[in-house]
This record gives sequence, structure tokens and C-alpha cells, in this order.
Amino acid sequence: MPQSAAPQSEADPLAGLRRPLFLPVFEPGNPYLTIGEMTAEFGVEGVIVNAFFLYRQRELRRRLPERGIKEHLGFDGLVMTDSGAFQAFRGRLYLRNRDIVRFQDAIGADIASPLDVVTPPGDGFETAEGKLGVTMDRVAEGLRIVKRGTLAGVQQGGRFLRLRHKAAAGLAELGVRYVALGSLVPFFTRNHDLEFAARVIADARAALPPGVPLHLYGAGDPVELPFYTAMGCDVFDSSAFVHYAESDSYMTPFGALEMEQAGRVEFECPCRYCGEGGRPVDRPALVRHNLWTVLDTVEGLRRLRAEGGLDAYLQEVLRVHDRWFPDSALAPSWDRIRRDEGMP
Ligand SMILES: [Zn+2]
Repeated sequence: MPQSAAPQSEADPLAGLRRPLFLPVFEPGNPYLTIGEMTAEFGVEGVIVNAFFLYRQRELRRRLPERGIKEHLGFDGLVMTDSGAFQAFRGRLYLRNRDIVRFQDAIGADIASPLDVVTPPGDGFETAEGKLGVTMDRVAEGLRIVKRGTLAGVQQGGRFLRLRHKAAAGLAELGVRYVALGSLVPFFTRNHDLEFAARVIADARAALPPGVPLHLYGAGDPVELPFYTAMGCDVFDSSAFVHYAESDSYMTPFGALEMEQAGRVEFECPCRYCGEGGRPVDRPALVRHNLWTVLDTVEGLRRLRAEGGLDAYLQEVLRVHDRWFPDSALAPSWDRIRRDEGMP
């Protein structure tokens, strides 16, 4: 038996929550939604917050450990924090793994993230392997630090399935109780091509003990979530509901439409933000419509996962999506995966 490095909390990080679970990215002070509205209007059960944005504000860095993140946010649900890894990737950032992990644990994050090393698809094998090694060391270090919550074991490995597998197996060996798949966003945002992400998910699911939550970082398009759920993902997080709205993109369960296209398809949204005419009237309403669509999709997936019928739902999504977006890679990529994974 590999020895677990983990003094972390033994409690199930998702206790009491149904899967799949969607964690909207919550940015304090954003112009669209308060956390109170997310809870009261949308029934949001958990959020993801960028710990680095809090940590870099001196006053908060000092005060937050005493007050706690939940009191600070005014939120009782699940709080996962992000480490600033993505900010580190975009520019020089002087931030040590142990400091940001310690901070996340001190402020009472239920799930904390290590400072993993983002690995874009352009990285060659040796670079990706090096970043994987550093990420694994930081996960191991994080496991020795986190005591109150649970540390997410972050998988890297770039575009190499062999490295992805090595990472998943290594995380299982470290005894992580939660796994997040990193650096996959650039793969699935290419015209809904599910192939690489789906293979990574299937491989990780097989390498990890059953029941360990599998989180796909950055997935938040309602047309894709059902497919990742079918492959075995349990948790998603995203700010796409805001970003899509900012570029006038209207989410539907069958794919997002530009607002000007939206009038040309037959689709009636039942949400309360799409009033007369069936479309939101302004950007704040579009943000709400988008968030509602993601959460409603996830609620449907919980039902389908419990009661059966997920495959029929996937077929329905593919049928409509294909009619609306004939050039999309969604259906052809899904066909290849089903064939290769031996799915019905
Ligand atoms: Zn709507």
C-alpha cells in the first residue's frame, strides 16, 4: 500500500451534495450577481473563489484567516478556492505553493488547490513531463499542509495521454481524496471536440478509487456537461455563464447561440429571465439566463444519472446540436469515443 501523505480532513468533501455539481466562479464585487442572489434565486450549493485575488490584498490576507472565507462571503455552502495557478501562467507571479495552500486552509476553504503548473497543448513532451513533476511535488507538499479541508489533487500532463495517466496513477498513490483535471479547457473549446478530454476523463476514472470526486476545471457549457458526466465527471466549475453573456452568447442545452441567431431557431426557454419573446432583454438578464441554463442542465443530469436515460438524452442533444451547428465536432468526436471505449 502506498503511504498517504495526508493529514487532511477525512470527511467527504462533497457530503450531502448530489453529483454532478456545478460551482459557479464567484468574483466578489462583480457587477452581475451577489452571492446572496446566487443562493436565494438560483439555489447555488457551492462556489469557486480565486484565493490569490484575496491573498494579494494585504488587509484581507491578514484578516481573513480569523474571519473565515464563508463569513467573508456570507455563504454557507461549499467553498472551493483556486490557487492563482492560472495567473502565474499568464505572467510572472511571486507566489509559493506552500504559502497559498496554507492561506486557503487557514481561511477555511472546503476544497483547496495547489499551485499547479498550467500546461498548454503546445508544450512538448519534456516540458509537459517537467511541469507534471513540479505539480506532483506541490500536491504532495499541499497534502502535508491542509488540515481543515481537502486538497484537490490536480492532474497535468498536457496533450500526452501517457503523462495524464502517470499523473492520475500518481495522485491515486498519494491518497488524494479529490481530483481536478487541469489544462483541458483549450482542448474542448475547439469547436466542441470532446475527444481528448473524454479520453483523459475515462482514463482518470479508471485509475482512481471509485467515489473520489472527479472535477473538470473550466467546463461550463451546458451542451458539453452531459458528455463529461457520462464519462464519469462529478464536478464542474466555470465563469462561462458571464463570459458568454459578455459576448452576447445565449446558452441553451443544445449549444450557445449569438443573440442575433437566437431568434432563428425553435427553442423556448422556460426560465424566468426570458420573458416575453422568449429571450433576455439585457446583459444582466442574459447572465442570469445562462447561469439558470447551466444549473437546470446539471439538475437534469442528476435525475438522469439516478434514474437512467442519460444515453437517450445525449442522443437528443446531438440531434438538435447537429441541426443547429452542422460544422461542429461534437457528434463526430463523440462517435469516435463511443466506438473506442466500447460504449453502446
Ligand atoms: Zn432563459
